[in-house]
Amino acid sequence: TALFEARELGFAYRGRPDALADVSFTLETGENLGIVGESGAGKSTLLRLMLGLTRPSSGTLLTDGSAFDSRSRSALRAHRRFAQAVFQDPYSSLDPRQSVERIIAEPLRSLGIERARAAVHQRVSAALESVGLPADAAGRYPHEFSGGQRQRIAIARAIVPNPRLLLADEPVSALDVSTRVRIIELLAELGSGESPLTVVVVSHDLGVVAALCQRMLVLENGRVVEQGRTDAVLSAP
Ligand code: ADP
Ligand code: ADP
Repeated sequence: TALFEARELGFAYRGRPDALADVSFTLETGENLGIVGESGAGKSTLLRLMLGLTRPSSGTLLTDGSAFDSRSRSALRAHRRFAQAVFQDPYSSLDPRQSVERIIAEPLRSLGIERARAAVHQRVSAALESVGLPADAAGRYPHEFSGGQRQRIAIARAIVPNPRLLLADEPVSALDVSTRVRIIELLAELGSGESPLTVVVVSHDLGVVAALCQRMLVLENGRVVEQGRTDAVLSAP
């Protein structure tokens, strides 16, 4: 069965035309997906549906072949273990009053995965290592880090509960050019190692998608106008 599937998803904000209509796609483990489209095409809305933050107006989401109902608290909780997210701005997404250790440990605590101090600390250290930050970053605070390092902290927080899916919304758009490349390399690495993590990237930048994603999907006015292997979609006339 597929890791994740969207079947004929639709969504409309109150009093507005459809933000998404008839969106269907399948995600297989290890096949990173790029979601591209102009501003207003529906990318962020689709990501929110995939995260369970917003319920579709129509259609179905399936994880590992089972329909996912975000009205159920227990299903939502299970879904947070399944799918984690990284957002565009690493300045606003990290609480400046919390140490890096607390920030990264948050999903472990809130999802009830791990409470024992030593075990939490060990998983935070492992996550820091996976994203290329030194272990002593744990005791420091977000303002002590550059934009790229902050995005690494946000990625560490997302991967610490061992999710199957990592949803990244414009993960490098707020970073300077040289930092972008290295964050893209990190995401590519995370999506190709032994861990069965699959990355979904929303981006307006085709270069990011070409570097990271085996498959891509193009949204236009809330509809999928193209999807398939990245090389095929990018070379289509
Ligand atoms: P993208 O991420 O591709 O820029 P969005 O998903 O943000 O697209 O937006 C899709 C459509 O939904 C746009 O027409 C946008 O104006 C509209 N929209 C987005 N968020 C809201 C909201 N909170 N309330 C009403 N309309 C919204
Ligand atoms: P309002 O606060 O005006 O109801 P919302 O944007 O919160 O507007 O939601 C509009 C509709 O979209 C809701 O009536 C509901 O059916 C659906 N909806 C949005 N988000 C969720 C959600 N997280 N869970 C369930 N339904 C939601």
